[in-house]
Amino acid sequence: MTSRRPLIAGNWKLHKTLAESRELARAIASHVGSGLACEVVVGPVATSLAAVKNTLAGSAVGLAAQNTHWEDSGAFTGELSPVLLLDVGCGHCIIGHSERRQLFGETDAGVRKKVAALLVHKVVPILCVGESLEQREAGQTLDVVLGQVEAATEGLDAVALGPLVIAYEPIWAIGTGRTAKAEDAQEVHGAIRARLAELKGESWADSVRILYGGSVKPSNADELLAQPDVDGALVGGASLSPDNFIPIIDAGVRRAES
Ligand code: PEP
Repeated sequence: MTSRRPLIAGNWKLHKTLAESRELARAIASHVGSGLACEVVVGPVATSLAAVKNTLAGSAVGLAAQNTHWEDSGAFTGELSPVLLLDVGCGHCIIGHSERRQLFGETDAGVRKKVAALLVHKVVPILCVGESLEQREAGQTLDVVLGQVEAATEGLDAVALGPLVIAYEPIWAIGTGRTAKAEDAQEVHGAIRARLAELKGESWADSVRILYGGSVKPSNADELLAQPDVDGALVGGASLSPDNFIPIIDAGVRRAES
């Protein structure tokens, strides 16, 4: 048995109406029931959070938001806050996804503020990091990824960081059908854990769950999850249908029981 409980998280991005979100949540909840050996969370669009929370009632499936602002409230038109996410029942929030960094100008400094604000309110950040294809081809993968991890956790010690989850998502693998080779994913995950041990202490680093994201599907989930430092998956496209997401959950259960 591995000591870190695997986490399979679905990122629904900008997909699914209210009715479609409820239907998908119902199928996942009925598979997970009152709990499995791995943890499962789903991240619907903001307008579906409350409805999905209701649909998930009585099941062990957790609710994740896809973004937050760092302030609790105020003149921030269009934003959500950790306080509101807690209010609607979110236990997790995806932060620093490459789409937000690339398309919406999210910076390392903003990501750090969001991580800190979520931790204060006891919402678990799922911190996304990852390199572009150009950076990988230029041999910069570890510099980029470790730099993002350092920047997002700067000034926060192991106690403050507590339940933080990291998702390594190579940008070139997101939504492209290209997946990192399991050994390449392991190399980056191992390097993240080693850097966290140097910066924040070994015992906390050993407890941190590091997910892999980037075209995870039923056919590659077991191989990725068999790597020692791959503690779960952040799943985009394949989280949008029970036929694909449930087998990935089952791979998480196998990982937990291995
Ligand atoms: C993601 O966007 O977090 C992701 C991993 O997407 P996909 O699984 O579609 O590559």
